[in-house]
Amino acid sequence: MTKIQKFKMFIDGQWVDSESNKVIETLNPENNKVWATVPEASSKDVDKAVRAAQNAFEKSWANLHPRDRAKHLRSLANLLRDNAEHLGTIETKDTGKIFRETKTQAKYIAEYYDYFAGLADKVEGTVVPIDKPDLQVTTTRIPIGVVAAIIPWNSQMLLTAVKLAPALAMGNTVVIKASELAPVTLLEFAKLIEKSGIPKGVVNVITGLGEPCGKALTSHDLVERIAFTGGPETAKHIVKNSAENLSQVSLELGGKSPVVVFDDAEQENALNGITAGIFGASGQSCIAGSRLYIHSKIYDEFLDKLVTKAKKIKLGSPMSKDTQMGPLNSFKQLENIEKNIKATVEQGGKIRCGGERSSISNKGYYFPATIIECKNHNLPTAENELFGPVLSVMKFDNEKDAIKKMNDNKYGLSSGVYTANLGRGIRISKAVRAGIVFVNTYRLISPMAPFGGIKDSGYGKEAGIESIKEYTRIKTTWYNSSDKPMTDPFTMG
Ligand code: NAD
Repeated sequence: MTKIQKFKMFIDGQWVDSESNKVIETLNPENNKVWATVPEASSKDVDKAVRAAQNAFEKSWANLHPRDRAKHLRSLANLLRDNAEHLGTIETKDTGKIFRETKTQAKYIAEYYDYFAGLADKVEGTVVPIDKPDLQVTTTRIPIGVVAAIIPWNSQMLLTAVKLAPALAMGNTVVIKASELAPVTLLEFAKLIEKSGIPKGVVNVITGLGEPCGKALTSHDLVERIAFTGGPETAKHIVKNSAENLSQVSLELGGKSPVVVFDDAEQENALNGITAGIFGASGQSCIAGSRLYIHSKIYDEFLDKLVTKAKKIKLGSPMSKDTQMGPLNSFKQLENIEKNIKATVEQGGKIRCGGERSSISNKGYYFPATIIECKNHNLPTAENELFGPVLSVMKFDNEKDAIKKMNDNKYGLSSGVYTANLGRGIRISKAVRAGIVFVNTYRLISPMAPFGGIKDSGYGKEAGIESIKEYTRIKTTWYNSSDKPMTDPFTMG
């Protein structure tokens, strides 16, 4: 029997258990076995972490010159590069995502810390052309205070970096709450924080359930900013919690991203992009291109090619080099996908490949690449975010029809269009109601490119030059430049 590993939380520079000594068991999605335990933080633990962050904000971090904060971020970036392999291994155990991807991503995440380190000393204030004589008015960007970063189970390193890097660069301190479904990766990441020389209390990593831990954190009096990534239902709780502390909130939520393929598209490119968009990370990606509209002229031919490609995707152990799709993260995910597929088939959906849990499922939560033809996009798999390798496919007749269908969903995170007609690519990218549009490509990220949705996919942008300002507030200062005394208020006018 393999030994269960025991992890601790990182609060105020110390490695601690929860005050109740309660733990959460975490399962390896590959074999459904408990491989680790992490502390189950109570509201008392949350309070300790937030107070440590507040103390560090006041005593050290906010007052450090941005150049010096940047040095710490660069040191963290280098540690990430050196430890990418280890972090990738842990994230794979934690989430079931394939090692090739988790390792590559852990290394690339370093770029986010370098990018925001570079921006740290370039955020400037303004001089306001004020409408009054003998006065000068300036604005400066100041840090907000304690940031609560609430992280989902998938892409934790990335979704932490897009919050933590700009928050730290601007002088805020942070309490990160890892997901109870994959809590270990961020605790291992905290070891790099410790090594990087970032002062104690500046970054705290806690583990716990949505309630009480997440709730206590997002409603804590001393929290001034909440950066949330997760599902839309949780987001509603977060916004309610923020009414307790009136903190500024950003929400990165789910999606049901549409992709259209026109009859003039370069087909090999489209086939590869669509496959990456829905089957990469077993479809457990917020920008998964899960609704596909194929032009009626090429519908049968293109769909056949896609099905042939999907059938070849190799499902297996996420650590194995030749695996292309690993298991889903949880049994709950698997059951939800099955429920939606069953309902879709009952309403006329036609499964072209996959559709049933894999025979290796008795060990882990394996589900194969699945393609379902749907008569319309109101069928369950075509309408709901499934967070799995399930592609719902429909027809469209012309550009107007494509745009109408793309926009007919409550989410607005990502979208894609494949066409050889540049003008059409531009027209669609303008018309689609989504935060991100990919033209003849898909599933790309960069620290330089803003990321985030509209409609029910949330608000606030992460990454990109503008996002750094989301971790500042504006302070306005009035200077009297006159040598004369101020007018007596009671003799004015
Ligand atoms: P989730 O909403 O279930 O959980 C996210 C986090 O919120 C977890 O840490 C959880 O413990 C915490 N939480 C739960 N209840 C809470 C409460 N009442 N108060 C405070 N915190 C609470 O999401 P998940 O299942 O971990 O992740 C999948 C979802 O995340 C999908 O909907 C996916 O689309 C979305 N997602 C979005 C993006 C994006 O950038 N737009 C990226 C990745 C994932």
